[in-house]
Amino acid sequence: MAGLPGWGFGPIRPYSGDPKQIDFDPPVEYSTGNGRHYWVFRDLVYSTTETLTAADVKALALEAENKVKARLSRARALMAQVDVLEHGGREPIPDDVKMFVWQRDGGKCVRCGSNRNLEYAHIIPVSMGGANTARNLQLLCEGCNRAKAGSLV
Ligand SMILES: [Zn+2]
Repeated sequence: MAGLPGWGFGPIRPYSGDPKQIDFDPPVEYSTGNGRHYWVFRDLVYSTTETLTAADVKALALEAENKVKARLSRARALMAQVDVLEHGGREPIPDDVKMFVWQRDGGKCVRCGSNRNLEYAHIIPVSMGGANTARNLQLLCEGCNRAKAGSLV
């Protein structure tokens, strides 16, 4: 956080005190030491170098929690995207690239020469960073494509 050196506010560990009291809201300052203040809010211990009020601690704790949530949802969105890429729901291959690959590969499977059930197959899989470019695509029949996919696993 620029402009606030030594702010260093964040949850450091779950609260492990009295198990009957695990829901501190508003936050409670329960110890001070080495220039740090220790607060417990809900079931987490927070440490800060600042002298804060309970309301400050709650605001900061909620902000930290929101940041974590935002980071989690970004990470989950990314995972979902990878999942989609790996399991069929791929980025569409541009039409001009398809046309180029079709012409280059002569409208037939580059492995067995079949012209049935042809697919645009990635040489380097999308999940491994392969792109939808003509250089990374080839025409394969369904059978050869499945065989190739199997050999990569
Ligand atoms: Zn084939």
